[in-house]
Amino acid sequence: MQTRTCPHCAHKYSAITYILKVLSRFDDYRGWPCEQCGTILTVDPKRRMKVSLIAFLPTIIVNTILISFRRDMGISLLGTFLFAGAFLLVWVLLIYSFDNFKLKE
Ligand SMILES: [Zn+2]
Repeated sequence: MQTRTCPHCAHKYSAITYILKVLSRFDDYRGWPCEQCGTILTVDPKRRMKVSLIAFLPTIIVNTILISFRRDMGISLLGTFLFAGAFLLVWVLLIYSFDNFKLKE
């Protein structure tokens, strides 16, 4: 199964289209109609879980580096939080872009 592809008509969503969809409505698990064939699709939760677990590690590493070297790099505490927040946001969007779709039962 391919990333962000409708299993029924093989229509592939672009990462940006899909991320905008995720951001505009958070009900992925309840399903949405495929923009090409109208089949009701849902996100594969197992796949998202796996990608999230793999993605979790770099987040911890980046945050640990930030906190350890914050003073040396002359970044304020607020700056650290902002950076960590921005990094996390980009990272979460990246995780969503690796979603797989499946037909809703
Ligand atoms: Zn489709």
